[in-house]
Amino acid sequence: MFRRLFLGRVLLGAAGAALVRPAAAAEERFEVMRSEAEWRARLGPLEYRVMREEGTERAFTSPLNDEHRDGVFHCKGCDLPLYASKDKFDSGTGWPSFTRSLPDAVRTRPDRSFFMVRTEVHCRRCGSHLGHVFDDGPPPTGKRHCINGVSLTFAPA
Ligand SMILES: [Zn+2]
Repeated sequence: MFRRLFLGRVLLGAAGAALVRPAAAAEERFEVMRSEAEWRARLGPLEYRVMREEGTERAFTSPLNDEHRDGVFHCKGCDLPLYASKDKFDSGTGWPSFTRSLPDAVRTRPDRSFFMVRTEVHCRRCGSHLGHVFDDGPPPTGKRHCINGVSLTFAPA
């Protein structure tokens, strides 16, 4: 009985560690670095969960889904310009989607959580999580940057 309980806790612990991963900034160096307390003070709970803990906002909840004006989408964590409105398209997924980022705006890394291998994408300057990149996008790149709206701010042209 005890042995079974112990094994269960070990397995639960391992699964928990795989699902709750440390924030990117805790592992890597970025041009803009803030402490966890600074990030928490700066961001709302959902923003913190998505941007610093690689969470995902619920589909169709971001007002930026329906943002069709000319302009630039900036990182909410450091204000770096990340995506141009001309590269935005309606993917039907419920998340703001882009065929590419602005030059030298984002970085990617393999994301092996949830028993899948996906390509995670984050801000080059502050490391904030943005979303994932998939290979099923439209021309000219064939890429789909599937981005959480809470990670972005929009500046109309
Ligand atoms: Zn940033």
